[in-house]
Amino acid sequence: MAARLPLAILLALAAVAGRAAAQDYDFFYLVLQWPGSYCDTKQSCCYPKSGKPAADFGIHGLWPNRDDGSYPQNCNPDAAFNPSKVSDLLSSLRAKWPTLACPTNDGLRFWGHEWEKHGTCAAGVFDEHGYFQAALRLRDRLGVLAALTSAGVNPDGGYYTLDQIKGAIREGTGFEPYVECNRDEAGNSQLYQLYFCVGAAGDSFVECPVLPRGRPCGSRIEFPAF
Ligand code: 5GP
Ligand code: 5GP
Repeated sequence: MAARLPLAILLALAAVAGRAAAQDYDFFYLVLQWPGSYCDTKQSCCYPKSGKPAADFGIHGLWPNRDDGSYPQNCNPDAAFNPSKVSDLLSSLRAKWPTLACPTNDGLRFWGHEWEKHGTCAAGVFDEHGYFQAALRLRDRLGVLAALTSAGVNPDGGYYTLDQIKGAIREGTGFEPYVECNRDEAGNSQLYQLYFCVGAAGDSFVECPVLPRGRPCGSRIEFPAF
């Protein structure tokens, strides 16, 4: 019996590990945010300790999602965010995944939240370093701001239609995002977040299997400066 016990424990552990590693999602949303629209609301914002971020789309997160619209979250309480595992990525994270939440901080809280809530649910493809590296590479590959500005859609406080915004991004990147709007202090609908879909392996863009339930846009969409 004493000799059999460790084997039984081993088998039980293997079963648990197998279940944890099983992929419980179908694709990812890569969610980008326009800093001007995060800040230009009643909640306002705080620049991170590293200073005012560039006037460009930053990453909000890379979120595993299921085809039915549901999603797993907080999949491994034992995989707490460890900044030392991404030390080589910190300057890129500061530049391309800046936090705008108050109070002013260094970003570790935002990155830790995204890793723990979403990243841990893709443990079959990404460890912590791989998760952040993949999101950074995917964002760079898109070049969303260049796609918009080369079609004359500029962050200048002007108004654009949803078709203009989606068309410019489709033309410039090859993929059409879901566009989520929020409202500025005066109540105007403004371009807030873009959702792109990424295949389950986390390395290529795909057409979205299902659209998120973000706040829809008005017929005139402001693209505020930052
Ligand atoms: P999610 O909405 O991804 O679950 O959570 C975002 C969390 O990260 C919130 O607690 C929010 O306060 C925090 N956060 C920190 N910086 C940012 C930011 O720049 N944008 C957004 N959307 N959330 C941020
Ligand atoms: P909100 O209610 O602000 O749209 O979303 C709050 C948080 O819930 C997001 O930051 C994100 O962490 C999570 N969330 C909201 N919608 C989705 C979704 O469609 N898919 C995934 N994976 N997470 C989502």
